[in-house]
Amino acid sequence: MTYHLTDPVQSLPGIGPVRASRLEKLGIVTAQDLLLWYPRSYEDRREVAPIREAPQDRPVCVRAMVATPARAAHIRKGLDLVKVNVVDDQDAMELTFFNQSYLRTALVQGKVCLFFGTVERKGSRFLMTNPAFEPEENQRFTRCILPIYPLTAGISNQLLVGAVRRIMEDCIQQIEDPLPPSLLREHQLAQAGYAIQTVHFPPSWEELEVARRRLIFEELFFLSVGLARLKGSGQKQQGVPCRYYDPAEYCATLPFALTGAQQRAMEEAFRDLTSGSAMNRLIQGDVGSGKTVVAAACAWLMAKNGHQTALMVPTEILAEQHVQTLTPLLAKSGQRVGLLTGSMRAKERRQVLSDLASGAIDLIVGTHALLSEGVSFHRLGLVITDEQHRFGVGQRAALVAKSQEARRPHVLVMSATPIPRTLALIVYGDLEISVIDQRPPGRQDIQTILIGENKRPQMYGFVRKQVQEGHQVYLVCPAVEESEEPAPGAMDLKAVTAYARELQEKVFPDLRVGLIHGKLKGKEKEAVMSAFSAGELDLLVATTVIEVGVDVPNATLMVIENAERFGLSQLHQLRGRVGRGDSQSYCILVSSAQGQETRQRLKALCATNDGFQIAEEDLKLRGPGDFFGSRQHGLPPLRVADLATDVQLLYEARDAAQALLQDDPELARPEYQGIRRRTEELFEASRDTFN
Ligand code: ADP
Ligand code: MG
Repeated sequence: MTYHLTDPVQSLPGIGPVRASRLEKLGIVTAQDLLLWYPRSYEDRREVAPIREAPQDRPVCVRAMVATPARAAHIRKGLDLVKVNVVDDQDAMELTFFNQSYLRTALVQGKVCLFFGTVERKGSRFLMTNPAFEPEENQRFTRCILPIYPLTAGISNQLLVGAVRRIMEDCIQQIEDPLPPSLLREHQLAQAGYAIQTVHFPPSWEELEVARRRLIFEELFFLSVGLARLKGSGQKQQGVPCRYYDPAEYCATLPFALTGAQQRAMEEAFRDLTSGSAMNRLIQGDVGSGKTVVAAACAWLMAKNGHQTALMVPTEILAEQHVQTLTPLLAKSGQRVGLLTGSMRAKERRQVLSDLASGAIDLIVGTHALLSEGVSFHRLGLVITDEQHRFGVGQRAALVAKSQEARRPHVLVMSATPIPRTLALIVYGDLEISVIDQRPPGRQDIQTILIGENKRPQMYGFVRKQVQEGHQVYLVCPAVEESEEPAPGAMDLKAVTAYARELQEKVFPDLRVGLIHGKLKGKEKEAVMSAFSAGELDLLVATTVIEVGVDVPNATLMVIENAERFGLSQLHQLRGRVGRGDSQSYCILVSSAQGQETRQRLKALCATNDGFQIAEEDLKLRGPGDFFGSRQHGLPPLRVADLATDVQLLYEARDAAQALLQDDPELARPEYQGIRRRTEELFEASRDTFN
């Protein structure tokens, strides 16, 4: 029988309804899905050696005949042994299998098999434990480089190897190469059929490299083409016109001097704004590096030109806080700041909307409420998004579309997530980047330690000491916020509330403990936050609603409960809530998790305060999907490429994508239909985020 790419996996021998439904959990439904289920690693089983010449430090194949009947022994509950002797031309070897008594029937006396395992020498005896084996006349898993697939319960590697091998020959003929021959030639890429076959069953490591290179290129190429198309042509558009004013006038209103890095970022933005073209700039700066004043400078320049600015932030708390800090700053130049959030009362909201429409408000700060219908601007000239990784590209575009201006409004994106270069290239391919790589003077590194549950009393003691010294403390719990899917193990709101109550009643009855989480109403949140800000609370129990942007310089200690629940970059963001004043600040990660990867992640945080280094580490440990929380971010998952290491190919693929789109922006040519289809499929799932 001939297999087709569209055949369901159930049509394969050995795969019934149960296995099919397990495979479906991996996203494998058809023969094609199986072909595209690439191995995660390989085992080199090519080497065959006689028993006496076999190396003892690594597994090899040994060709030998079963010499004795298999002997089974029941040692104790949960431990069965099967022993059998095998011989080759010169030597005998004893094989031991643990808890695999079903193998007995396969080990037929007189049968010649290939045994893959490590040969041990004990005196004059040779031993092998738990080898993989198969009869010589039906060789499938030995004498080859064996693919090791990502698995799920009830699906063994052997099953997948067998299934892929069975369909390979028929299906590989049916694979149409989505890349045109000209592109393959130009970038010296293998053909799709060869690459897929070889990545499953490589005859040698060299050929595997050739195949992988093709598949990685293809993946990054489709990603680049797709993103470029979603972002639009990338050509410079004319921007809302803007005259230059000397920022010295604005700077004079600040209570401090800008750092060199802030000054540079501001000048770069001013140059964009006054260039005639629309600005598209990302300001990247670690938490606490002082991005807000730079953004405010841009708003100031726009207002001098009679234009409004909209600053969109991910949380209400952050919006309120920005309004508090920006209002007095811009008031000195006679400019007005307004606030718009979803939880405002109808009357307030009406007033703000009318002030916006009349132009009475110069800078409006708000949440995604800014995108809602009924929000219209007098002369919107600049759109700023803070903590951009929380917004899809689409939301930024929606705000830009609110402008009635003849020319395109300018766009400024601020991100506190230091994005590794490789990712920035993809995600922000359309943005110029300014980096604020310097912190305001007088800031010290935050000392970070990791403790287990057993050190809780000492931790409480340290909390008390900070408060006695006149400082304030955050205690953060992982908890479900409205907008998030419940992560396994996250505390529910009740648990966070109970934790706060216990701290107040049992541990710190004499201190003032506040609680803030995402389910509180906007006004309630604001009340708690401003109480903490004003020093009326000593301790603030919080969920990750305080992750972004919140600024209380007197807070010097951040305690993070169940720290293992957070990603590295998120922990770094949380930690950035302290260390904002002149006093030495601390972060205590509480975690009893023992997993090696988890410990490594948490220790990485203790070792450095450098957000870029942490971001690189996070990328390595968790992959790009997790990096931003793939759901918000909408990047499709990668099958073969690794953004942490495949940098060279990424550049090449991106350049090829740009060249292609310059040549044929709509991908209208017949030879590009494969590319067009594949990029569209790739972004199918993330359409919402990017449209
Ligand atoms: P982020 O980059 O995390 O958004 P902010 O803009 O919130 O940082 O700034 C952090 C704190 O540092 C704020 O309290 C701000 O007033 C202060 N700050 C910003 N720039 C300077 C500076 N050049 N000198 C001293 N303090 C500064
Ligand atoms: Mg900020």
